[in-house]
Amino acid sequence: MSLHLSQLVLDELASEVAAPAGAREHLEGCAQCSARLAAVRRDREASVKSFGYARTRARVAAERPARWRELLPFIVPVAAALLFLVIASLNPGKAADPRLKGGPTVDFLRAGQPVTEAKPGDVLELQLGAVGLRHAIVLSVDKDREVDVLFDGELPPGAVVTLPRRLEVTPGSVVVHAFLSEQPLDAKRAVSAMENEIRQYAGWPLEAPPPQSAGVTVASQRLYVKP
Ligand SMILES: [Zn+2]
Repeated sequence: MSLHLSQLVLDELASEVAAPAGAREHLEGCAQCSARLAAVRRDREASVKSFGYARTRARVAAERPARWRELLPFIVPVAAALLFLVIASLNPGKAADPRLKGGPTVDFLRAGQPVTEAKPGDVLELQLGAVGLRHAIVLSVDKDREVDVLFDGELPPGAVVTLPRRLEVTPGSVVVHAFLSEQPLDAKRAVSAMENEIRQYAGWPLEAPPPQSAGVTVASQRLYVKP
């Protein structure tokens, strides 16, 4: 059994952009991914019809703000961290850190099991596959373009970490972005960089890409909330 389709591939299929070879084949044989794609399509249609979407498109068409802000690193700028970044960028070969091979993950858990769909009132936990990185910020973005900080701080040791805060599901789908680094992260900067991305993104806000920052890796997960 091959791996399930990623969120990115589902978005490509839903927006009829060319998807990677094999994606459609997988879809035909996988009820779970078919259901996820149907949910993406439902949410997209709903968002296109909504007032917020039209308003945002108008705003994006009117003016595109300067992008310099999102280029700011949101690592807390301590000298040691900057030195580390300079050395890392001078030695790209060092990036082959075995802990980073798998890449980080973020999952919603209900009763200990990963879920991608939920209903209002469900109580969920968040689980990070932190690949040994010690610092994390987890942001959520909802259909109203609101950005919330769900976690900000140092992680307890372990490859897979369940975050202390429980989440009660409210109506409306959400996406979470987990930013992970060896260095302490600046939540304020991460939030403003995310808000900047959303402002400039013409489509459904849950598809706005998370901001990139040197030395920070990102994992994303979407939760479809059934009405
Ligand atoms: Zn699948």
